[in-house]
Amino acid sequence: MLKFYNTFSRKIEELRPLKGSQVGLYTCGPTVYDFAHIGNLRTYIFEDILHRVLEYNGYKVDHAMNITDVGHLVGDGDEGEDKLEVGAKREGKSPLEIARKYEEKFFSDLAELNIIKPNQVLRATESIEAQIEIIKILEEKGFAYKGKQAVYFDISKFPDYGKLSGQKLSEKMTGARKEIVIDKDKKHPQDFALWFFLTGRYQNHILHWPSPWGEGFPGWHIECSAISRKLLGQPFDIHTGGVDHIGTHHTNEIAQSEAAFGAPLANLWMHGEFLLIDSGRMGKSEGNLLTLDELKKRGFSPLDFRYMCLQAHYRTQLNFTWEALLAAHNALDRLSEFSPAEKPHQVGCAEYEQEFQSAINDDLNVPQALGIVWEMVDDSAMPVSARINSLLKFDKVLGLDLANTKPQEIILPVEASALINARQLARDKKDFAKSDEIRLQIEDLGYVVSDTPGGQKIRKKITF
Ligand code: AMP
Ligand code: ZN
Repeated sequence: MLKFYNTFSRKIEELRPLKGSQVGLYTCGPTVYDFAHIGNLRTYIFEDILHRVLEYNGYKVDHAMNITDVGHLVGDGDEGEDKLEVGAKREGKSPLEIARKYEEKFFSDLAELNIIKPNQVLRATESIEAQIEIIKILEEKGFAYKGKQAVYFDISKFPDYGKLSGQKLSEKMTGARKEIVIDKDKKHPQDFALWFFLTGRYQNHILHWPSPWGEGFPGWHIECSAISRKLLGQPFDIHTGGVDHIGTHHTNEIAQSEAAFGAPLANLWMHGEFLLIDSGRMGKSEGNLLTLDELKKRGFSPLDFRYMCLQAHYRTQLNFTWEALLAAHNALDRLSEFSPAEKPHQVGCAEYEQEFQSAINDDLNVPQALGIVWEMVDDSAMPVSARINSLLKFDKVLGLDLANTKPQEIILPVEASALINARQLARDKKDFAKSDEIRLQIEDLGYVVSDTPGGQKIRKKITF
């Protein structure tokens, strides 16, 4: 039995897929105006684990995702510039050039993290018609009205607004910042834009389309209502995203989709917690955004980061530190040493496999599952080949590519190999003082040497 925490009901619930053995899964995709940061990537790793756990349990996963290439403003409310236009100005390119560049980079980050690409991906700019259709229905049903700057969703017509976060409208109103009320025509400060017009701040907005209300561009939330319905139908099984989407983006998706079609959007809502950096919020204004490329520059592999994410439950915050990443790197190295390329034994370790599955099926308790993995790896009462067999099975969920990842191979410069040889000679002569001295010289060249039963082992020194 598979159980997940449903943000909507605030309860752990059993998964009951609408289509029997197939699960419809929708993931809010990236806003492709800049590199994804490792916080974003943590959320996509969580969603990938979910995808893999469903498959591990025999379900076929129909995984859909949008690409936000228009309409996501700098503020999640109706404030600020379109992020794509910010990116375009920054780099002197067109918004669509920016969008395609960072979409490509996003998918290459996912591939390096061994994340299974959703089988259905649709861009906001390529689903404008479907978005307009929903806005038309909302207008016909009296949920939408036209202001000077935009067509808005009238939240007073949707009494259940805010049911996802559990936040009462009155509380939200008190929390609403003044600048959100940019359009005096808004009936309620929390009414949100479905379609922006080319006026005021947006009069020079580069991307725009005709609509029954005038030339303009869609708001951010409507794209997910339209794309998820188009790709998966309504309702579908599971909708995911980061916790920051609960209060506004997903709340608004629910309001739009339910108001238009009188049916729930999704049955289960799952949200991944934040990645923090040095215990604080990661953000552009904090100046502490890290990308996958920056981790790679310091000698880490993307899968080191993936391993690090597996160590925390998706519903708890995870604090990124370089020390924690190094510990993950060392653990992953050890795990890959344990999975040689030779063909594994036919039989695995049945008990460990059972425990592993109960852990992952219990609201994706991957940290617990990882504990079971290590217990099994270190269990010398089990034949090595059986342990390898189970480990490779577990890797279908962990996604660490253990069948192919070998302890990270390095090519040594001539000076370093000469020192390694000299150190071996010193050790053969039991001249340990000399051997320690050479170890330091090797470190100066950027390598770390350790002594194992199989001889000297060399790793690239990681600096942070
Ligand atoms: P965006 O590209 O801004 O639309 O965000 C992509 C995904 O990353 C969304 O699911 C966000 O909820 C998620 N996200 C944003 N910041 C963080 C963070 N610090 N930690 C984890 N997930 C995040
Ligand atoms: Zn979304």
